[in-house]
Amino acid sequence: MPMTLEGSCRCGKVSYSVESSAPFPYQLCYCSACRKSGGAGYAINLLADAETLKVEGREHVAVYRAVIDTPPYNRAEGGCRRHFCTACGSMLWIHDPAWPDLLHPFASSVDTDLPVPPSRVHLMLESKALWVQPDIRDGDQAFERYPEQSIEDWHRTRGLWIA
Ligand SMILES: [Zn+2]
Ligand SMILES: [Zn+2]
Repeated sequence: MPMTLEGSCRCGKVSYSVESSAPFPYQLCYCSACRKSGGAGYAINLLADAETLKVEGREHVAVYRAVIDTPPYNRAEGGCRRHFCTACGSMLWIHDPAWPDLLHPFASSVDTDLPVPPSRVHLMLESKALWVQPDIRDGDQAFERYPEQSIEDWHRTRGLWIA
């Protein structure tokens, strides 16, 4: 049984639930948009099943699309839609219509206790702020841009995928 993730913003106007087979918060993204989401210079994005998303307070949710300088976007808006609460600014989840089945909750918005990952992946390090010193531990992987492995594959190859 996939895990049910319950999430919310800080002010409570928005709450949501979604099913996830891949609930380990292992992927730390230091990209130009995630690093502005708050926290320690990165955001942790999970993987969940978009079809199972239930939202309360949808009228308080707005979408931000970052302008991407590099190809293939070349200063156009990227496909990622970052959903956030208009009242308190909490980031909630990412959805990209190019991959309609996938929802990427920000681990920071999840209230359910998540499992502790055995190792982490640090990605988009080429975009990290100068002052940020990534805590790269034994077994962690680090990438200037994207890792080869999808979030699903990372879970499956470690026997952590919850069917
Ligand atoms: Zn809020
Ligand atoms: Zn990012």
